[in-house]
Amino acid sequence: MQDLLRDLRSIVEHERALYGTHLPLDAPDSGPADDAAADRDPEPSSPEDGPAPDAPARSSSADSPDDMPNRDLFGNRTHPPEDDPTLPPWKRIDALSRKLSGDAPYKDAETLAEVEQYLADNVLVPIDEDRENPVFGVGDPEADLVIIGEAPGRDEDKEGEPFVGRAGQLLDKILDAINFRREDVYITNILKSRPPRNRDPHQEEIEAHLPILYKQLALIRPEIILAVGKVAGNTLLDRSSSLSTLRDQEHDFYGIPLMVTYHPAALLRNSQWKRPTWEDVKLLRTRYDQLTGDDD
Ligand code: URA
Repeated sequence: MQDLLRDLRSIVEHERALYGTHLPLDAPDSGPADDAAADRDPEPSSPEDGPAPDAPARSSSADSPDDMPNRDLFGNRTHPPEDDPTLPPWKRIDALSRKLSGDAPYKDAETLAEVEQYLADNVLVPIDEDRENPVFGVGDPEADLVIIGEAPGRDEDKEGEPFVGRAGQLLDKILDAINFRREDVYITNILKSRPPRNRDPHQEEIEAHLPILYKQLALIRPEIILAVGKVAGNTLLDRSSSLSTLRDQEHDFYGIPLMVTYHPAALLRNSQWKRPTWEDVKLLRTRYDQLTGDDD
């Protein structure tokens, strides 16, 4: 047993030396949490705005194998057994949406409008009942870039559109800096309804709304995805990593390149994260141009 453990340790150390941050063994982040739920609405938070105990992105440094069901020994993503990596990404994501939604009525939808109507007409979890408006998504239905946040805040709930508050205005500026207009891309969230007092999404809420997001992605068929914030990144990649571990690299989301960067609301509170965000979005633009043939 001792020998086996020693061998395993030396394999892990060798892999770390080779791949550095790809392995989930980094020392815990000592900085502040990178995107608390209260960041959705950057007004001063009340004590009730604290993270919920069952928030999905549990710890900024966890990454233990138990937290990552679809991971190999080194923390790299492995695909769920029913996934067929030989299929095009949109088919894989569509199959996942059908499976996770239990074949919900929108499973055969051919347009985003049909899925949006389903969302508007149905209460899937209690927060759907309390919302002022569902927040489905906005932008080009054939966008090559999809941006995914965590959940609507107060302004988004009022207007029924994602990222319209202060964080949204900063997101627009970030997009502008890499030569995208809001209408060139598609913007949406993991959750389609505002959690009360902007608390973290609960697991059952994510499970209820994620198949809708997957159906959106299957219909849009983007070339690349940007997840903003730890909750969006961890939910899509099915892990529990710190933002600093997730960012600055390209992940694979069922065949679609996926990048993660800081949530714009977190940038409103922590200006030291603006530079790494700028590095991330420059990389995003470069990859976008390569993937869409805009790089000549
Ligand atoms: N924060 C999010 O994650 N999404 C929004 O739509 C607005 C703020």
